Amino acid sequence: MRVFFNSSHDAHDGQGEMHHGRMVPCFDNARRMGLIRDAVALAVKAQLVDPADHGMAPITAIHDPAYLAFIENAWRDWQAAGHTGDAFPYIWPTAGLAGGAPTHISARLGQYAFSSDTPITPGTWKAAYWGAQTVVSAADAVMKDGEAAFALTRPPGHHAHANRYGGYCFLNNCAIAAQYMRDKGAKKIVVLDVDYHHGNGTQDIFYERADVLTVSIHADPKDHFPFFLGFADETGRLDGQGANLNIPLPGGTDFGGWSQAFARAMQKILGFQADALVVALGVDAHEAEPICDFKLVTDDFNRIGQMIGRLGLKTLFVMEGGYAHDVIGQNVAGVLGGYLSQAKT
Ligand SMILES: [Zn+2]
Repeated sequence: MRVFFNSSHDAHDGQGEMHHGRMVPCFDNARRMGLIRDAVALAVKAQLVDPADHGMAPITAIHDPAYLAFIENAWRDWQAAGHTGDAFPYIWPTAGLAGGAPTHISARLGQYAFSSDTPITPGTWKAAYWGAQTVVSAADAVMKDGEAAFALTRPPGHHAHANRYGGYCFLNNCAIAAQYMRDKGAKKIVVLDVDYHHGNGTQDIFYERADVLTVSIHADPKDHFPFFLGFADETGRLDGQGANLNIPLPGGTDFGGWSQAFARAMQKILGFQADALVVALGVDAHEAEPICDFKLVTDDFNRIGQMIGRLGLKTLFVMEGGYAHDVIGQNVAGVLGGYLSQAKT
């Protein structure tokens, strides 16, 4: 399988993240990528491909220009304000406290961040920019010959909204890829998010559109990040009514419960008759994952890949979460190997 690899990913290297009131080492760290790359190389005969530079157009097709300018310059502005280390917000505009248009970097961090877990570092923009180029290059390859590809990149993307960052995400790679595939001729796209966490950014970006079906199987936001989106009654709006499916699952869910959810997702996806599929490939539903509490085991990820293969769609896999260093490589390789064992192309 072709594996498009973001070799600039390690430009984003946070000194720490705020996790339930404590600064801890970043769960999304550079070591993840090497582990996944090496495991995939062995398991699915990966052909590593460098991304091409498609410029800003595929990114501005999804994200607000003012937001992009903010992300690109935030660390420089933070430093210019006299701060050292990574940039974090500490105040947010909320109901009753949202007047004016403050220009101070701390106010703008709060304006554009929705969570406090995501450092902005000197190389954040470079890593995120090349992450987007990685997924666009992979999407381009899938559209050209119909064969599957894997975009191996970090920081992840599925929590990023058109003008909000958080949950370690800055640019919504899956949304950028889906839009790029639309622009290259695919009339209908499915984004299937199998990450443990709800893909809030992807849902929000496509919430009023009928041409992109967003499906997410995830931990119930009542008790799990991102808390404020991802509930079962969010089904889309306006033209997008019916084009969003959330399947929240309780903590402790094992493969029995997860695969039942997938069966529901599969029915919805097959009914949509899409031209292509983008998989938001998080592997943090594994039992060893540090910030999650599902109970999937490594063999289950091969089964997930087989189920995705049986959908019979042109498929692009995009790396999202997965933080347990001992197992993430095997789990990603399991999904891709399972997919290849079942896919027609
Ligand atoms: Zn996740």
